[in-house]
Amino acid sequence: MNLFYECKHCKTELGRIQSDSIDLDKLGWHYMTEDERQNILLAGSNEPVKITSICETCQTLLEEHPDYFASNHIIH
Ligand SMILES: [Zn+2]
Repeated sequence: MNLFYECKHCKTELGRIQSDSIDLDKLGWHYMTEDERQNILLAGSNEPVKITSICETCQTLLEEHPDYFASNHIIH
């Protein structure tokens, strides 16, 4: 299984995991959306699965300017 994390705000790739046996709990399974879980469960062994996350930069921005992403989201 081939997984990669991408920041949902700036689309930066945060990391990749390649493993035959992945501990789903360590991936943050409980924090994933239903769609992300389905993608993982349905993925073939050679098909990369995207997991949306948030990078440190956006996390910091979000904490400092909680309104920024909210208003940004509404505009789009
Ligand atoms: Zn980001």
